[in-house]
Amino acid sequence: MQRLLRDIVPTSTDQVVTGIQLVTAELRGEVELVDETSAAWCLLAEDMDKIAAVLDGQRSELAPAQAGIEAAAPAIAEQLGQIGLDVESAPPKIVDRFPVPFDSFEWSAFAPDAEDEERFGIARGVWFRQDRLRPLYSEALYAHEVVHTVTGTVDPHIYAMGLEEGIAEVIGTCYAGSAVIGADAVLNILLHGRHGADRPRVWAAYREHTRQAFLLYREFGLLGLAELVRRGRAAIHAAEATIQAGGYRELDLPRDGFDDDTTRVLEIFTCGFMPAHVFTPFECHLLRHVRQGSTFDEVCRTAQVPPPAGNPVLRRLGAESALFVADDDRIAYSNVERYLRIGQQTGRPVLRYLPPADLPSTWALG
Ligand SMILES: [Zn+2]
Repeated sequence: MQRLLRDIVPTSTDQVVTGIQLVTAELRGEVELVDETSAAWCLLAEDMDKIAAVLDGQRSELAPAQAGIEAAAPAIAEQLGQIGLDVESAPPKIVDRFPVPFDSFEWSAFAPDAEDEERFGIARGVWFRQDRLRPLYSEALYAHEVVHTVTGTVDPHIYAMGLEEGIAEVIGTCYAGSAVIGADAVLNILLHGRHGADRPRVWAAYREHTRQAFLLYREFGLLGLAELVRRGRAAIHAAEATIQAGGYRELDLPRDGFDDDTTRVLEIFTCGFMPAHVFTPFECHLLRHVRQGSTFDEVCRTAQVPPPAGNPVLRRLGAESALFVADDDRIAYSNVERYLRIGQQTGRPVLRYLPPADLPSTWALG
């Protein structure tokens, strides 16, 4: 199974759809829903069917990743030029390995600056690793990385990270990225890439810095953020301290440039989306069948789970999650149906599952 999932490297939508169909057929081999593994197979098969259905409808629309980046670069430069950021001199560079000392990092892309050029002889620009190129995702990533090339010309001796990552997400990924791959694709990249319950903590830091940058965006708009980028890393680090101290409205920045797509993506990603309701596959499968007024036995029957396996989990879930209240073995009150509806209506599930550690929990469709 791991081999098959890894094989779904989206070099073309045809390959992805065919790969998903193969994996889904294998997942459907398990029918008895009695434990975490069988529930994970069932949920993964459902989700992959949905992915294949979306991709099947747009087979010819996705450009190969490298061509996508090269085609998007001028449009991204133009978009950022409109808010006063000059990134014309940062063409994408695609390589098999990053140069020493950056060869051991797991990054998909990085933006070496003048300091890297001087100390290590690495040419400035935006470098991508060939094996990590992805349609749409790499284009949004390029939009993020080019923002670093601007701060990198002001004070390259200062280490980046921190709020600069959040600002690059707002004006690069969200604003410039939405212009080339669409706001919905950007939102999916952010939700799935930053709100995953098992993501390495560095992605949580990106998410928190994006929330900080969203505060600045709401107050100062794109032009305020772009001005901060032009002032460089020392100014951005100082602004981060001001945000944490609570006085960011006092920052001396212009106030202008609000973009509807950027605003909507950031509102949903940083504030609107509820990331807390993450369960194991077996719990999630049972939850999806919880209905106010039903008994535990009835929930198990519609979920096709034997009651001796399902009932104790339901009893514990009610107490732990507070998503429903059980009166003995009958569900007296429940918010589950409401959250399932929100998930269906928005296409962004509130009740989510995390596959067991021995299953691959992510694949790089963006
Ligand atoms: Zn970055």
